[in-house]
Amino acid sequence: MSSITPMMKQYLEIKEQHKDSILFFRLGDFYEMFFDDAMIASKILEIALTGKSYGVEERAPMCGVPFHSAENYIQKLLQAGKKVAICEQVEDPKLVKGIVKREVIKIITPGTNVNDNTLEGYQDSYLMCVDYDQDFRVAYIDVTTGEVNVASVERESLADFITHIRPKEILFQTETIAELQKNRLLKKDLAIMQNAFTITIVDEKYEGMASKYLKAHVDSFVESVYSGALDIMIGYIYRTQGVIADNITRINVIEKNNYLRMDPNTRRNLELTENATTRQKKNTLFDVLDYSVTSAGKRTLRKWIDNPLSDIAKINHRLDLVEELNQSFDLRSDLKDLLDEIYDMERITGKMSYGTLSTRDVVALRSSLAVLPDVIRRINRSELSCFNALIEPMDDLQDIYRYLSDTVVDEPSLSLKDGEVIRSEYNENLKEYRFLEQNSAAVLQQIEADTREKTGVKGLKVGYNKVFGYYFEITHAAGREAIIPSDFIRKQTLSNAERYINQELKEMEDKILGARQKILEIQSQIFEEIRERLHENIVRINRTAEYIGIIDALLSLSIASIERNMVRPQFNTKNIFEIESSRHPVIENILGEDHFVPNDIMVNQNSRIQIITGPNMGGKSTYMRQAAIIAIMAHMGSFVTAKTANLPILDAIFTRVGASDDLSLGQSTFMVEMKEVAHIIKHATERSLIILDEVGRGTSTYDGMSIAWALIEHFAEKINSTTLFSTHYHEITELEEKHSNIRNFYIAVNEDGNEIRFLHKIMKGKMDKSYGIHVAKIAGIPAEILAKANEKLHFLERNEPLEHPAKPDEAMDRYSETKQISFEDYSLKIILEKLDLIDMDDVSPRQAYALLEELLCIAKERI
Ligand code: ATP
Repeated sequence: MSSITPMMKQYLEIKEQHKDSILFFRLGDFYEMFFDDAMIASKILEIALTGKSYGVEERAPMCGVPFHSAENYIQKLLQAGKKVAICEQVEDPKLVKGIVKREVIKIITPGTNVNDNTLEGYQDSYLMCVDYDQDFRVAYIDVTTGEVNVASVERESLADFITHIRPKEILFQTETIAELQKNRLLKKDLAIMQNAFTITIVDEKYEGMASKYLKAHVDSFVESVYSGALDIMIGYIYRTQGVIADNITRINVIEKNNYLRMDPNTRRNLELTENATTRQKKNTLFDVLDYSVTSAGKRTLRKWIDNPLSDIAKINHRLDLVEELNQSFDLRSDLKDLLDEIYDMERITGKMSYGTLSTRDVVALRSSLAVLPDVIRRINRSELSCFNALIEPMDDLQDIYRYLSDTVVDEPSLSLKDGEVIRSEYNENLKEYRFLEQNSAAVLQQIEADTREKTGVKGLKVGYNKVFGYYFEITHAAGREAIIPSDFIRKQTLSNAERYINQELKEMEDKILGARQKILEIQSQIFEEIRERLHENIVRINRTAEYIGIIDALLSLSIASIERNMVRPQFNTKNIFEIESSRHPVIENILGEDHFVPNDIMVNQNSRIQIITGPNMGGKSTYMRQAAIIAIMAHMGSFVTAKTANLPILDAIFTRVGASDDLSLGQSTFMVEMKEVAHIIKHATERSLIILDEVGRGTSTYDGMSIAWALIEHFAEKINSTTLFSTHYHEITELEEKHSNIRNFYIAVNEDGNEIRFLHKIMKGKMDKSYGIHVAKIAGIPAEILAKANEKLHFLERNEPLEHPAKPDEAMDRYSETKQISFEDYSLKIILEKLDLIDMDDVSPRQAYALLEELLCIAKERI
C-alpha cells in the first residue's frame, strides 16, 4: 500500500468519504472512475473498462467520461438508481507543485436531480424523508419545482403512503430504521421499500436547518412536529448540492381528513393516473380529463385526481370555477392559446435554485412572462366573479420581464462562451468591445489616418506581427523628412523602415486583442447578475407559476366537461348515491361515445349493498368502477360522465378488484385478496364506497362462497357503507330476502339460441347463469374442450340443484362413476336437446336454415 501513487492515495481518501456514490474523479479533461465504481459504471454506461497502474505492481480497473459531456452519463447512472459524487480540482494546477487539491463539490442523487431529462412535464420527482418521533413524520420535496409536503403517517399505512408517493429517494436515520425493525410487519414494509426505492441513511441531525433557511421565503413557517423530517431533508440537499433549496414557497400539510382516502390498491385498480398494465398515462382518468397545455397545469390536474377533496365548500368552489369557464367558448379558446406560450416556470425556478439556469431557460422564462398581463386582462375582461377573485393576487412579474428584455438579446447563444447573450445597449463597455471586435480593421484605419494627419508623416502605416503586436511603420525616406513625435517608442528597425508604438496604439491593441476575452467576461458577469436577480425573485415567480398551473387545470376540466358531455355533480348529506346514466369515462373513450351503454347507479337506504350478478364480460366490473371513478371526479371538483349525479361526501373509497400474487413477499393470490378485504373491513365507515369484485373466487367454491356470504352480511349489518359486490356465486343473491338494505342487480344479456349478445345494461334482479363457456368460446378455447365443459355443466346442473351445489371435486367423482358417453353420442344428445326445444310449427325458413347450420357444426366438430 505504501508504494501507491500520491494521486491514487488522494483518490482512496476521498472515496472513503463517499462509499455509496460513484466517484467522478476529475483528471484533466476527464472524470475517471476506479475499482468497483469503474466496473459498475462501465456496464451501465456501456464504456470501455481499462486499467491504471498505481503502484509497483498494482493496477486499478478504470473507466472515464469527458467532462464536457458528463451530464448525459450522470443522468444514465441516476436512472440506474446510483448516486454520483463529482470531485473537482479546487486549485489551479499551474500554481501548485505536486498533487492538486481535489474535493467533492456536489453529490447528485436520484432525489436531488434537477436535470432529469427523462422526467415528463406532468411527473413529480420526490425526495422523501421519513422521521420517527412517536409517530412517523414524512416530508417530501420535488426539487425540480420546490413543492414540499409534510404528513403524519400511521405505522400500518407507511408502506402504502410511500408506494403512493413513489419518491425517487428516501432518507432514513439509523434510529428510524431501528424503529421499523422492531415490528414484524414494519420490517416487511422496510424490505418492500429497500427493494423498490433508493434508500439513503442520513445520520447527521441538521437541527434547525429548516427554520433557519425556510423562514425567509415560506409563508408563515413555524416549528412543528414535521421540523425533524424537514431539517434532515433540507440539510441533505445542502450537503449534496452545496445550495439551499430556496424555491420553496409553501409547505403543504397533508391532513388525512382533508382528502378522500384511497389506498394505493384503489388508485391502481381504478387506473386514475397510470394504466395498470403499461404504467403509462394512456387509458387513464388523467388521460381523459387532460386538456391542459402547460406542464404546471398537467401536474396540478394529476394532483387533484390523486387527492380528491373532502370539504364540500372547497369542492363546490372548484366546480363554480369550472362552471364559469364553461360559459364562454371564446374565453376558453383565448386562454388556451395564451397558456400555450408559457413554459415550465416552476422547473425553471428549480434550476435557478440549484444554479443550473441556462440562457435557454432565461429566454423561456421571458417568453412566459410576456404573456402574463394578457392572461390576467383576458380573465378580467370576462367578468367572472369567482375566476376574477381567484387571480386577484396573481403577480404579473412585469418588472422581471422588462429587466430580462433589457438585458438579454432576442435569441441568445446557448453558451456564454461564444456568441451573443447580453444586449450591447445594456453595458457601455460591452458595446465598445463588441464594436472593436467587429470593426477592428476600421478602427485601426482611423488611427492610422488620424496619426498621419497629426504627425504629417504621409507614408505612416499601421501593421501587425505576432512578436511586437500593432505598430506604426515609417519608411526611412519618409522618416527623414518628418519629425517623429516624442511619444513614439521605436520597436524595430528594418532595412527600409522603422517601427514604433505609442500609448494610444498600445491601448487599442490591448482592447482589440482582449476584446473577445472581455466580451466573455462582461457577458458572464452580467449573466451572473441576472441569475442573482432572478434568484432574489424565486418566490414571486414560483407563486405565479402555481397560479398558471391552477388556471390551466381548471381550463382542462372545463374543456373536458364540454367535450365529454359531462354534468355538474350535486352533493347531499343523506348518504344518497345516485347517478343517472353514468358512463365509465375511460372505457367510453376507448369504445366511442355511441358504443358505451350508460347505466343508472342508484344506492339509497334500501339498496346500500348491491349484489351484482351477470355473465362474464357483461360489464359488472365496468359498472362498479365507474361508480368509484365518478365519485372521485366529483370530489376533485370535476364535472362527471352522467346525466345527473347526486352524491354524499365520502370519507374513503376502497376497492378489491382482480388478484395479483405478491410472490416476492411470499404471499399467495388468495392471501393478498384476504389482506385487502381485512384492510377494508377495518377502515370502512358508513360514508365509504366499497367495490368488491368477485371476492372469494381465489379458493374452493364452498370456501369462497361462504366468505363472500359472510362478508356481505357484515357490510349490511355492521358497516352499511355503499357497497357494490359482483359475484358469480348466484346463491348469494338469496341475501336480498334476509336484509332490508341489500338489493340484487344483474347485467342483462340477450340469449339467442346458442349465441349471446351482451347488453351491458344493469337491471334489478338476479341472474343465475354466468355464460362462462360462451366467453371461453369467444376467447378461442378449442371446441373439444368446450364440448367437454358443456357436458360437465349439463351434468352438474341436472344433478345439483342450485341451492346445494356439489363441490366441484365431489361432482367430478360422481361424474366419473357414471357411464362415459362417447363424443358421437354426446353430439347426438346435444342435437336432440336442441331440437327438443324447438316448436316446429313456429320456425321461420330463415331460423330453420340457421338451426340446420348450427346442428351441422356441432356434428362436424365432434365426428
Ligand atoms: P367478468 O365477470 O368476466 O370479470 P365483467 O362482467 O366484469 O366480466 P367487464 O370487465 O366490466 O365485465 O366488461 C367487459 C367488457 O365489456 C369491457 O371491457 C367493455 O369493452 C365492455 N363493456 C362493459 N360495460 C360496458 C358498457 N356499459 N357499454 C359498452 N361496453 C361495455
